[in-house]
Amino acid sequence: MTGGQAHPLPLLGECDSCGAANGVIFHHPDGQQEHYCPRCAQRYALYNAAYDQLEAGIREVVEAWVSIWGTIPGVVDLHEQLRQIGAQVEADYKTGCFDREGVQPFPRAA
Ligand SMILES: [Zn+2]
Repeated sequence: MTGGQAHPLPLLGECDSCGAANGVIFHHPDGQQEHYCPRCAQRYALYNAAYDQLEAGIREVVEAWVSIWGTIPGVVDLHEQLRQIGAQVEADYKTGCFDREGVQPFPRAA
């Protein structure tokens, strides 16, 4: 990342992700700025949306789980449990245990 500059970035520049010549300024939520080409800007936005959705789903499940198990000594070790579960879920994903439908198009209005 090249953000935090005392001088503003030029509007156009080399993509900081892939090196393409058609990068434009991309503003990150934390105030950092980089040059991203349209393809990398789209990929970055999709990655963030997918991450946020996964985090929200996990957070909701963990909150419900903690409300049930959270007071039992020796049971709650979220870091270790989530690490082990995450590793197993990733292994299952890599072996094809989940559908990989990808991004679906928006349905057309009737
Ligand atoms: Zn790029």
